[in-house]
Amino acid sequence: MTVASWFSKMTGSGRLDNLEDLLLAQIKDLYSAEDQLISALPKMAAAAHSSQLKSAFSTHLQETKQHKQRLEEVFRLLGKEPEAETCEAMQGLVAEGGEVIDMEGDPEVKDAALIAAAQRVEHYEIAGYGCVRAFAHRLGHTQVVYQLQQTLDEEAHADKLLTEIAEGFINAQAARS
Ligand code: FE
Ligand code: ZN
Ligand code: FE
Repeated sequence: MTVASWFSKMTGSGRLDNLEDLLLAQIKDLYSAEDQLISALPKMAAAAHSSQLKSAFSTHLQETKQHKQRLEEVFRLLGKEPEAETCEAMQGLVAEGGEVIDMEGDPEVKDAALIAAAQRVEHYEIAGYGCVRAFAHRLGHTQVVYQLQQTLDEEAHADKLLTEIAEGFINAQAARS
């Protein structure tokens, strides 16, 4: 995709005239991303072998539902109706998670693969929320920054928890398989 067509898709209107336009475009992208994850996380939880990994995915599903609600609050604070602009990057990341779910193999190795897929998702979200938080901060949208920061903290925590599960025991079990 060219930069011009990406910008055009990001704005819907094909224009990025100011930082408010860019903030709104990226909020719409994140709104789509969170919505996709609300569908994907139950499948990740169902596919997980380790009970700790299952519960990490289930807990993050509940948080993700809140992330969607916080974005609805962000739209409201910006005086806009909630609107999703399909996040193609998240479609790709979710598709890769789906490939892991569908694969046959050792349960511990599959768990390690599920974590690797999920951490890609969390890092993508951390990048996305970090950018929109910076835009909102620059524009003086204090309440919006507050909402985005709460979600960003939960994404970072989810990522850290996945690292702890992987390095705590799953990678070691997978190495013995
Ligand atoms: Fe999220
Ligand atoms: Zn995207
Ligand atoms: Fe997340």
